[in-house]
Amino acid sequence: MIWMPESIITKFYQSLAKGKIYGMRCRKCGYIAFPPKLGCAKCGQHQMEWKEMSGDGKLLFFSSGNLPPMKFAKYHPYAYGGIELKEGPVFYTLIEGLDVSSPEAIEKQNMKMPMKVKAKVKKMADMNIVVFKLA
Ligand SMILES: [Zn+2]
Repeated sequence: MIWMPESIITKFYQSLAKGKIYGMRCRKCGYIAFPPKLGCAKCGQHQMEWKEMSGDGKLLFFSSGNLPPMKFAKYHPYAYGGIELKEGPVFYTLIEGLDVSSPEAIEKQNMKMPMKVKAKVKKMADMNIVVFKLA
């Protein structure tokens, strides 16, 4: 876990509660960080500004959450995978609209990657979480 000032985390979650998804953009090179990070992974500068994310992305691969953390056990089984956001970064989260009923179903759908997905904010385990659904 990367250390971040409380204010960044607070603003990120307050925005999620309003259904808005923010990342951060480097003022120097334009690199987009999601979730928000203080420093730029590309040029190392610390001049990041807030940037609302489009929510558009491509699902690269997924699997089922076979060993869900206790907080998420009630949502089991769910699909969990890597999404390449339109803005660049790859983000790992839950994906709605996929069949995770069997390993065969998961394998078959993975052969169709990448799939277009769209972000949404969902209240899960008393938290606002950025999940994606098939577009
Ligand atoms: Zn940069």
